[in-house]
Amino acid sequence: MRIFTSIAQWQTFRVSLQTNPLGFVPTMGALHQGHLSLVETSRENNAFTVVSVFINPKQFDDDDDFEAYPIDGPRDLQQLEKAGVDAVLIPGAAQIYADDYLFKVTESDFSQRLCGACRPGHFDGVLTVMMRLLNLVRPDNAYFGEKDYQQLQLIRDMAAAFFMPVNIVACATVREADGLAMSSRNQRLDTRQRKKAPLLYAALKQSKSAQQARDTLTRKGFDVDYVEDIAGRRVAAARLGDTRLIDNVRV
Ligand code: AMP
Repeated sequence: MRIFTSIAQWQTFRVSLQTNPLGFVPTMGALHQGHLSLVETSRENNAFTVVSVFINPKQFDDDDDFEAYPIDGPRDLQQLEKAGVDAVLIPGAAQIYADDYLFKVTESDFSQRLCGACRPGHFDGVLTVMMRLLNLVRPDNAYFGEKDYQQLQLIRDMAAAFFMPVNIVACATVREADGLAMSSRNQRLDTRQRKKAPLLYAALKQSKSAQQARDTLTRKGFDVDYVEDIAGRRVAAARLGDTRLIDNVRV
C-alpha cells in the first residue's frame, strides 16, 4: 500500500497510473466497518482503490466537535492495508486549502435544510472538499455511505451540475448488531447513551409518521434536531448529550 502525505507526490503518481478503473473512498479516518464496506465495494469493482483520510476542518461548524473528533492514524493504516487498499492519501489542511478557502462550492437550496439548517456552512465545507479531492484523485467511481443521506444527494447533484466525470456510488448503511448506524462519533457515547442510541433507528423504522418518531425520541431523552420524510426516506438527526447522531430509513 502506498501512502501519500504530499499532494504534489500524489499528483505525479496519478499521472503515471495506468490501472483502470480507479475507485475512491473519501473518509475522515477513525475507520470502522462502515468505511471498510465502501472499500470492499470499491475493490470488487475497480482495479485500483484509493482511500483519503482527511479531517476536513471546514465542515465542522463547532470547534469543540472538531477538537473532539477521534483520530487513530496507525490503526486506520493497519485496517486499510489489511483491506487491500492500493493507495492512501493523507493531505494536510494547509495543502488542501492553500487558497485559504477563498474558493468554495455552495449549494443554495437542499444544503440549507435538515443538517444544513442546524450546522451553518457544513455542506459548503463538504462540497468544497469533495470537489478538491475528486479533482485530485480523478476516480472513475467514488463511494459514499447512505448513512449520510443528505451528503450523498448533494455530492451526486454537484457532480451532475459540474459535469464531473465520476460515477457516484451509494453504499448501504452498516449497523451494529443492535441497529445503531456505525459512526466514528459513537465512540463518544457513554455507557447509558450507547444503550439508548439504537432507539433512533428503531423509532425511524417503527413510527407511522415523522412526527410520531420525533415524539418518541423526545420522550426517550433525545434532543431532536429534525425528523422529516423526504423523497421516500425518513431522515433524522438527534443528540444524546454532546453527541449528534444521524440516520435514515426507507419509508
Ligand atoms: P466519514 O469518515 O464519517 O466522513 O465517512 C466517510 C464515508 O463513509 C462517507 O461516505 C460515509 O457516508 C461513509 N460511512 C460512514 N459510516 C457509515 C456506515 N455506518 N455505513 C456505511 N457508510 C458509512
